[in-house]
Amino acid sequence: MKLTKYIVLSLFLGALTGMILHVFFFNAFDSINTYLFVPVGTIFLNLIKMLVVPIVFCSIALGVAGLGDMKKLGRIGGKSLFFFLSTTALAITLAIILASIIQPGTIGNFDISSQTFDGVSEAPSFVDTLVNIIPTNPLQAMVGGEMLQVIFFAALVGIALAALKEKIQRTTHILEEANKILMYLVTLIMYTAPFGTFALLASAIGQQGFSAMKAMALYMITVVLALILHVVLVYSSVLKVWGKRSPIWFFKNFYPAMLVAFSTASSNATLPFSMKTVQEKMDVSKSVSSFVQPLGATINMDGTAIMQGVATVFIAQVYGIDLTINQLVIVVLTAVLASIGTAGVPGVGLIMLSMVLQQVGLPVEGIALIIGIDRLLDMLRTAVNTSGDAICAIIIDESEKKFEVDATARSAM
Ligand code: ASP
Repeated sequence: MKLTKYIVLSLFLGALTGMILHVFFFNAFDSINTYLFVPVGTIFLNLIKMLVVPIVFCSIALGVAGLGDMKKLGRIGGKSLFFFLSTTALAITLAIILASIIQPGTIGNFDISSQTFDGVSEAPSFVDTLVNIIPTNPLQAMVGGEMLQVIFFAALVGIALAALKEKIQRTTHILEEANKILMYLVTLIMYTAPFGTFALLASAIGQQGFSAMKAMALYMITVVLALILHVVLVYSSVLKVWGKRSPIWFFKNFYPAMLVAFSTASSNATLPFSMKTVQEKMDVSKSVSSFVQPLGATINMDGTAIMQGVATVFIAQVYGIDLTINQLVIVVLTAVLASIGTAGVPGVGLIMLSMVLQQVGLPVEGIALIIGIDRLLDMLRTAVNTSGDAICAIIIDESEKKFEVDATARSAM
């Protein structure tokens, strides 16, 4: 609790320091940023990223093994996918509606003649993403941090652990102990969080120009409003109806993880901390959280989909292109796929946006307009991305508990 207070304080102080440096000492900012903020921020990021691959591997293997049988795995996997896809589709629909009402691209002067953006080739096609889930070399997948591939391999190992039970008990024990070591390291590393978040915030805010923000204010407001509405309308009601929990209870317990997501702008980097929070403070079973949250951090990105929806409508408005209903439906579909393909690291959502724009024939160069202010929005949308995964874990845990009670009742009859 004390640590969380320090993190909040350091976020605030970091933002303030960044702002003061940007406004009054911009010349000095560059060197302070290079020699202080960037190294301290990177050390913090590296420390948590260091744990991500081993944690995802151990916890998914153990999580799947803990589920016990393929039927349960299929049921939880199916429910997670349904939750991820439907909430993401709702998120982007909400974003498109809001952007069409507010029309952020029609007010202000946007210089579109000199825009260039060359990130197009970096967006992989959806088929490639799907085929590439299966690693040809699991060690290479771990070395390269290919999360979907690591998840796939870990899930297979988990299935084997469950099937072979007594024969491989020692291996299961070793994995359990490794998991305990990793979770202990998460606790240890979180003590560096106040320094890390201070540096990351000071660096991000210090680099943002106010003039850039002013021109883009309406776009930013639209994205932020859509993020808030999604949390209030979709997440809160889903939590209440299917999770039997109050949204206030959720945010009270989960906000420290949201702060980490906010300062790192990376769902992957937040994962160790958000899993620990959900398992220890929110009473979600380890096996469900261990399976659902890493999967969600990799493929479930409602916040990112919201940015992509608003950005697409915004770019169409700036370029004076009317989107038909058909095109908007395509935007919803491709943004759902794009957010699945987006890796949980900073800024990737913007690169995947090029896939959405291309699908509906909008100029990809439009991305250059929003790139300058994206970091700040990235922080916010990552907090939403991470919350979506946690809420999914809570709901599935609740429905599994109910399923088991029903099953016991059925067998007693
Ligand atoms: N930074 C986001 C995340 O890690 C992804 C993105 O939208 O760029 O969740």
